[in-house]
Amino acid sequence: TFKAILVSRDAEKKQSVEVVDLTEAELMEGDVTVAVDATTVNYKDGLAITGKAPVVRRWPLVPGIDFAGTVISSSHPDWRKGDKVILNGWGVGETHYGAYAGRARVKGDWLVPLPEGMSPHDAMAVGTAGYTAMLAVMALERHGIVPDRGPVVVTGAAGGVGSVAISILSTLGYHVIASTGRNAESPYLIGLGASEVISREELSQPAKPLAKERWAGGVDSVGTHTLANVLSMTSYGGAIATCGLAGGMDLPGSVAPFILRGVSLLGIDSVMAPKPVRLEAWRRIGTDLDLKKLSTLSRSIGFDGIIGAARDIVEGKIRGRVVVDM
Ligand code: NAP
Repeated sequence: TFKAILVSRDAEKKQSVEVVDLTEAELMEGDVTVAVDATTVNYKDGLAITGKAPVVRRWPLVPGIDFAGTVISSSHPDWRKGDKVILNGWGVGETHYGAYAGRARVKGDWLVPLPEGMSPHDAMAVGTAGYTAMLAVMALERHGIVPDRGPVVVTGAAGGVGSVAISILSTLGYHVIASTGRNAESPYLIGLGASEVISREELSQPAKPLAKERWAGGVDSVGTHTLANVLSMTSYGGAIATCGLAGGMDLPGSVAPFILRGVSLLGIDSVMAPKPVRLEAWRRIGTDLDLKKLSTLSRSIGFDGIIGAARDIVEGKIRGRVVVDM
């Protein structure tokens, strides 16, 4: 047996969470069984464990949307016993038993190899939040938003997506403007490579259709008024990658930035991203994310700390990334 976190709900749909013992026979269908070496707590995991948003769509469920681990057994042609692998998304921790267990059984098609030179711990310090930040940077690059075009803004800066985005963008030579609600984290953000830190309040009031142009691009993990303001302040021909909804899911803005300044809104989804895109994102993480910055922005907890960290992350209390060493 191995330990697992299980979320359940009763006849009144009241959600509860407990630590249980599971056996391999109780895992869901899949052609690869993995020993989970490390996992992490993402915002979505916080939503799943607290029930604050309907992330869990199968009951009961082992949550946990990402892991790094070692293949124990496989009938998939790509994977053999002993292979080191990473999983991000694909509904794991939402509709399929997830990472918060000693073992996971998944489809081999969902896995990517652990990049050379990276430990399972490092990969989970990146985690889904960091891999999503990389997808956002790649989207900006595809849109021609290179460092010469001007500054880029990162909202939710002290969070997981934000911290990794700042690290990557600054390493690539961008002038990064970090927006945070936690002004005390300014030194941390500057340490990751931000050139300027602005206050969350500057972007959280209802947005004007257009405002003074301040940046050529951005990575937003907040949504709602923040994203509307970010768009209204994007310079001619710029682009914003939208990743998250930590502030809210609505987008109370106007079409003015799009039709008067040719601004683009680039949608980022990590969950169903096709395998070639994942492989490229993890390759780029290997080359463009400074491992020293990665250790600054992450800290470790054990299995017993998962539920507490999940509660903290939905309250915006987690800085950077939390790695769970199993
Ligand atoms: P996180 O670590 O909690 O970071 C979110 C940050 O947003 C917080 O640290 C905080 O930053 C800011 N924030 C929180 N509540 C806010 C509020 N009410 N108003 C304004 N700002 C607020 O979470 P994460 O793991 O980085 O994820 C960030 C978002 O991206 C989440 O919505 C998540 O679901 C989403 N996401 C999406 C994908 C995808 O595939 N599209 C993948 C991963 C994550 P400051 O304290 O610095 O202000």
